[in-house]
Amino acid sequence: MNNIIAIVDDCEDDIFAIKKMILKQNSDYKIVDFTDPEDALVKLRQDKVDCIILDYYFPLMNGLEFIKEFRSYNDDTPIIFLTGQGNENVAAESIQAGAFHYIIKSEISGESLHNCILKGILKSDLDRKERSYNEFIKTMTNIIPVPLFYKDKNGIYLGCNKAFEEFIGLNKDEIIGKTVYDISEKNDAETYANRDRQLLDNPGTTQTYEHEYVNPNNMRKYVIFKKVTYRDSLGNVSGIIGIVNDITEIKERETELTSKTYYDSLTGIFNRRYFDECVEIEWKKCKRKNEPLCLIMLDIDFFKNYNDTYGHQEGDNCLHNVAQEIKLSLLRPSDIAVRYGGEEFVVILPNTKLNGAYRVAERIRQNIINRGIKHVASAVSDVVTLSQGIAEMSDINDTVDKCLRNADQSLYEAKKNGRNTIRCLSVYDNNQEEGEEG
Ligand code: GH3
Ligand code: MG
Ligand code: MG
Repeated sequence: MNNIIAIVDDCEDDIFAIKKMILKQNSDYKIVDFTDPEDALVKLRQDKVDCIILDYYFPLMNGLEFIKEFRSYNDDTPIIFLTGQGNENVAAESIQAGAFHYIIKSEISGESLHNCILKGILKSDLDRKERSYNEFIKTMTNIIPVPLFYKDKNGIYLGCNKAFEEFIGLNKDEIIGKTVYDISEKNDAETYANRDRQLLDNPGTTQTYEHEYVNPNNMRKYVIFKKVTYRDSLGNVSGIIGIVNDITEIKERETELTSKTYYDSLTGIFNRRYFDECVEIEWKKCKRKNEPLCLIMLDIDFFKNYNDTYGHQEGDNCLHNVAQEIKLSLLRPSDIAVRYGGEEFVVILPNTKLNGAYRVAERIRQNIINRGIKHVASAVSDVVTLSQGIAEMSDINDTVDKCLRNADQSLYEAKKNGRNTIRCLSVYDNNQEEGEEG
């Protein structure tokens, strides 16, 4: 398709000369001309041309005013400015206003003008392509439901997609031009900035990390960041592109699942399954450090009578209260209370000797009595009481199974010896007994 050139000049002779010059270089151009700039501004609004050659002086307006008006509705058609006296200031101003180039009228030649037209058309073509490419990228990033951002190598946000705006609760204007320190809590910002520096030191790699933070609405969030560096057309690293994967729901489900798996819903303390998984680990840790571990087995006295007297629902309440009281009686963070089954509990006491475990058991016994849960059907007290059996492991050959059996044996002794009481047996004692028997 032939390119259309518009000449806007109030001097008919100049129009004629310019037209001749251009057509001499390429006779395929279609030329339209205007002596009245106002007329040109109206016509060129509807009829697009590929390039405009513009004079400076007109009777009622100057070329600069023309450019400003024209650019208000067209921002890509190249305008070549013809400055009469070679006034550099006017030339610079015209470029600023949106002219592509300026030529001093007295120095004009067919070749220079033609070159200028070709470059102008090429540039506006490239600009248009770049604009539509940018528009394409913008549309594409905006339909991605994953929050996405990009920043320069100084950590200044250059852009983001809609999902990112929604994710952090700010709009683009509040993000672009800012750094993480402006839009995040100080500690979080510190983490992000450190990670950015690490990534910029290792361009070409993909950085992935999990981060937990509290958002402005006071909600705990878990996210995975994936970041890469990008380069400019010269191959220099110029910034970071990142996406944020919100895994809060997954984390919450996981936590819920874990708590369902390891907690006893009736009493709110750990369940047997947790005990089975953790006791071996605790014992291994103790063995490594050459520390003993004690287990206390606890059983509510005359609990069948309790149920029979107060009903199953009250029995459940009682179990809950007893479990909580046991838990509250444990003072070290490493001590663990477990509902072992029915009205039986186990307490794991890592790094604790038999006499220490006895003190814990006695504290539990007292606290349960002090709680004062009425039990008229108990033969040993008028409140709910516990019987407890303790066993210790301290030798590397001791096993959890054996220790549990010993604790159970001790509990049996406690029951036999009047209930509401504590009995101890270490693996060592038991070995001796076995030895004696054998
Ligand atoms: P002892 O002093 O010898 O331990 O006598 P006890 O009655 O406490 O022991 P027994 O083993 O005869 O009875 C345990 C009772 O615990 C029977 C059972 O109904 C009750 N029990 C076990 N699990 C639950 C529970 O989840 N809720 C309620 N309410 N009762 C339970
Ligand atoms: Mg029992
Ligand atoms: Mg019982």
